[in-house]
Amino acid sequence: MENMVKITINGEEHEVEKGKRLLLILTEKGIKTPHLCFHHALVPGASCKLCVVEVKEKNKPPKTRLSCAIKTKEGLEITTESAMVHQLRNKAIGDLLKMAPRADIIHRIGEEFGLTTGLKPDGCIRCRLCVRICKDIIGAKALKIVKREGMNYVIPSETGDCIGCGTCVNICPTGAIRSEDKGNVRKIMIRDEVIGRHPLERCEICGRRFATVKFLKHVQELEGSHPDTKEHHKLCPTCAKLHAVKDRRMLAPKL
Ligand code: SF4
Repeated sequence: MENMVKITINGEEHEVEKGKRLLLILTEKGIKTPHLCFHHALVPGASCKLCVVEVKEKNKPPKTRLSCAIKTKEGLEITTESAMVHQLRNKAIGDLLKMAPRADIIHRIGEEFGLTTGLKPDGCIRCRLCVRICKDIIGAKALKIVKREGMNYVIPSETGDCIGCGTCVNICPTGAIRSEDKGNVRKIMIRDEVIGRHPLERCEICGRRFATVKFLKHVQELEGSHPDTKEHHKLCPTCAKLHAVKDRRMLAPKL
């Protein structure tokens, strides 16, 4: 057919539409090629530089080019994986990460194509406040620091026991540790790692779920059997305050 040409891709001959963007052909044939900035409705901007391949035209030395910018013609020899391609993709991914270090998609592409992305930033400034407060004030020792690929990381500790108090969440200056209350469960998370998952207790007056069962037990144990505080353990902070005010009014001498 007139509008068809023969090209080779990774040593295999293919008959393809003449003048079609090579990236589209690679994608149609299931030959995975990383790309981010290509859209079929627009003329390629060639800005992400990820879709680089090696191209050899008849009687010319091979060179690297972006597959989004190549229009197919008779006799092209394409290599999608080579040392040079890999090197240029690594450079491209490094440049993209300088602009958007937290973009998941870039890290995913890096992982899929074996490119060097480094560790994904996680918002943690390694101040250790969470680890220290959990150990020194709460006494749960639920967090620890480990080294991964030369960098310190806060992770759940196997020897400690998170009680879901949320103190680490409140003290974290960057919001790297998060908590989420859903239904009757509180989750404490850092990056994708769940530090603790805890059932929540209901307030005996308003019914709102307000603290974890483990945390209330912990407070009870710390306070021992003090009669003034123990009865408020099943009350949320608002109801506990109202309750205390009512108690004071009842105890106040009538004038
Ligand atoms: S929520 Fe868990 S990890 Fe955070 S301070 Fe409390 S016990 Fe420690």
